[in-house]
Amino acid sequence: MPDLSERAVSIKSSPIADQMAEARRMIQNGLDVIDLTVGETDAETPDNAKKAAIRAIREGKTRYTAADGTPELKEALAKKFGVHTQNVCVSNGAKTILHVLFETILNPKDKVILPAPYWPCFMEAVRMTGAEACVLPSVAENNYLLTAAQLETVLFPNTKALILNSPCNPSGQAYTESEFLSVARFCKQHDIFLIYDGSYADLVFDSEKAPSPFDFGDEFSDISVCVGSSSKAWAMSGWRIGWSIAPASVSSAMSRYLNNCIGNPSSVSQAAFLAALQDTEPTEKIRSVCRERCRYVESRISALSGLSCLPSKGGLYVFVKLENGMDDLSFSGDLLKARHLAVVAGSAFGYPGYFRISCSKPLPVLQDAMDRLESYITERL
Ligand code: PLP
Repeated sequence: MPDLSERAVSIKSSPIADQMAEARRMIQNGLDVIDLTVGETDAETPDNAKKAAIRAIREGKTRYTAADGTPELKEALAKKFGVHTQNVCVSNGAKTILHVLFETILNPKDKVILPAPYWPCFMEAVRMTGAEACVLPSVAENNYLLTAAQLETVLFPNTKALILNSPCNPSGQAYTESEFLSVARFCKQHDIFLIYDGSYADLVFDSEKAPSPFDFGDEFSDISVCVGSSSKAWAMSGWRIGWSIAPASVSSAMSRYLNNCIGNPSSVSQAAFLAALQDTEPTEKIRSVCRERCRYVESRISALSGLSCLPSKGGLYVFVKLENGMDDLSFSGDLLKARHLAVVAGSAFGYPGYFRISCSKPLPVLQDAMDRLESYITERL
């Protein structure tokens, strides 16, 4: 057989998916594994979305739509973010949007600043274009957030974009307005695209919201691309709807790419998400459940010696530091074998010495999980 392309050979499998697959294999073999790897809430898709999907099928809305989304859904997203529909593209989840965006703005050998810890798909999506991710580790003392001073160290003539994910998967931390402004102004000053992934922006716990480029009028509108997803805050991960808000020229180039390569996201899913956007109550409920679960896990972690964590500002995750230089890969592998508890090692996020707990299960299950973790830590230390 002829060889695969160099690009295909270079694509790494998702470390989160690998660790999830191992947990699922064990579950299939009849073991009582608690799987806290997957970044997906257990909430039901909102009822009005389900009903709208059924209605769409009955009304025959089962044909091609515009490749970058129906006018109605683009209009609703444009209204939510205070932009024009020409700035909006809709596709099959934030993953596809990010891939199309990177194909649209990156040339091979361009550099993209990627703060660590990072969601691993950012790294692979950048690499697939032939561009290079410049990983910039953030530090616990600064709540795992970047400073503009750090950014100077990864500024090259071909630095094209910076990725900011706030609230962040996996750290759970979010930028304050002044922290966000200093990073955004750095991008503006050096004419770098600011890629803001706000997939968890509707799941911020205690402040009103995490800052995004929209909060500053037009100051960053020529360099900003905001990416969002229906997966987390609307519990619609299987429906595959994500979007971008970008300068009109970027959006129209993305639309051409979508037209030629991907086509439209499911017409039925688009109708469902359009309905979901009309009611904020289900998202508020998901947010309060996530907050309660994260707070519970954080309180259990802080009572254990050898582990520590910061309170999450939003999203689904608690990011735990292994004190005493414990190796995260052997820790998480051994925790799974010894206590049947699956978490994701920090190395998956470019951040060894940590692990991520997804607070995706109901409190009684999290309680069982934390009991297992406690007994494992007590025995090991
Ligand atoms: N962006 C971030 C930061 C994520 O953590 C995830 C999923 O875990 C996604 C995007 C993917 O979203 P979607 O399901 O819309 O592809």
